[in-house]
Amino acid sequence: MLKRVLAGVASVFVILAAVMVGRALTVSAPAVPEAAPPIPVDVNLAARHLSEAIRIQTVSYGDGVKEKEKESALQTMQQWLAQTYPGFHEAAGPEKFNNSLLFTWIGKNPNLAPVLLMAHMDVVPVVPGTEKDWTHAPFSGDVAGGFVWGRGAIDDKGQVVAICEAAERLADSGFQPERTIMFAFGEDEEVGGGKGNGAIAAALQSRGTHFAWVLDEGSSVLSEPYPGVRRPIAVIATAEKGFLTLELTAHGTGGHAARPSGDLAVARLSTAILNVTGHPFPSDLDDIQRAKLAVIAPLAPFAQRLVLANLWLTAPLVVREYQTNPESAATLHTTISPTMLNAGVKENVIPPTAQAVINFRIHPRDNIRSVTNHVQDAIGDARVDIAERDETISEATKVVDTGSPAFATIANAVTETFGVPVAPEIMTGATDSRHYLPIADAVLRFRPVHTEPSDVARVHGTNERLAVADLGPAIAFYTRLIQELK
Ligand SMILES: [Zn+2]
Repeated sequence: MLKRVLAGVASVFVILAAVMVGRALTVSAPAVPEAAPPIPVDVNLAARHLSEAIRIQTVSYGDGVKEKEKESALQTMQQWLAQTYPGFHEAAGPEKFNNSLLFTWIGKNPNLAPVLLMAHMDVVPVVPGTEKDWTHAPFSGDVAGGFVWGRGAIDDKGQVVAICEAAERLADSGFQPERTIMFAFGEDEEVGGGKGNGAIAAALQSRGTHFAWVLDEGSSVLSEPYPGVRRPIAVIATAEKGFLTLELTAHGTGGHAARPSGDLAVARLSTAILNVTGHPFPSDLDDIQRAKLAVIAPLAPFAQRLVLANLWLTAPLVVREYQTNPESAATLHTTISPTMLNAGVKENVIPPTAQAVINFRIHPRDNIRSVTNHVQDAIGDARVDIAERDETISEATKVVDTGSPAFATIANAVTETFGVPVAPEIMTGATDSRHYLPIADAVLRFRPVHTEPSDVARVHGTNERLAVADLGPAIAFYTRLIQELK
């Protein structure tokens, strides 16, 4: 009897293994597209321009901090753009919205809906005390060792420069696009974007402008798209997570610290926070991740291919792999980040209330209401109030179809430039492109540069830098996009 059971179990395993290997083998034809002949680009000139742009300290602190300095830096930036890219300015002359710029390059065919290319001029501050950790000073713009160094090199002045270099070269050659192309360079993306792209989008909406597509900063060309798979693919973000901040206020009995009651606001708040972080939103591979993994699977070495080609069985393993890295873990679910605490004014006075601020990035399967309900249930305490902080609340965006003309247009310019397969991705951070959601058929997010796993920490961190060699494809990408736009 036991023998027969064992034989039965063994044959199930054999069949399973055969199915898995079979699936892994059938996805084995690596679909790597060919790049088009390269577009000649003067990368050294572009590197010098990026270096100059980095030296202009357009830092967004937020909350009114150093606004005067920032305003004057933005004006310097605009003068620099006008001097450096006169042909582009002549062809598409910018309109100013506060200190942000909207260029309009009129197309030959007025019946075609316009498109919008975006990049932001502001950068995040360098955390005080970390300046000495930089190999090159954060606003030096040094060009050394094959890199342009400094805050904004990747996020997002590299993109401002790449777009302008492409447009300048085309404008100089007398080119006129088929379809109207607009370019929006915001001043405050890092602090919500209300003054820049918020204002531009509102103005365009009132003018009745509607875009066929919008392309903003976002995902990039990943040199290692899955742990152990060292074959590059490009990922274009077809959706962006939502943004919600909840403020918890716990109530208790205040009084003299020498005579505490059992009813302490700070203790109640602590329990509430632990209850929220202790009830994470479920993680799962959504359609975007499954589509991305389907692109990666044929490129993977056999061991990984066995896993990636059999998600019907291995999805839990893949989810666990994603969860080992905060970057990929965040794509799987709505995230919970307690960010601020406030209670008490004096060491010997028990505060009657205590506050915590928790930031959520909403996965498309959730929404503001379901997240708030989840938090309420997790806390389960009527003496903890939950309120939305008004600032920037947004639902997750809808997901752009990879079969849409917008995705095809951008994916085509990507494969022509980089010669790599293209997959969808979700943007875990917020971008300025969300201001255009009401007036665009499709909003996509892609940054035409290579990203090594170690580069992730450089964005908003220490030693931000962009490879000089990356400027060539970045400029070629925008050149193709503008040139080939029908
Ligand atoms: Zn950015």
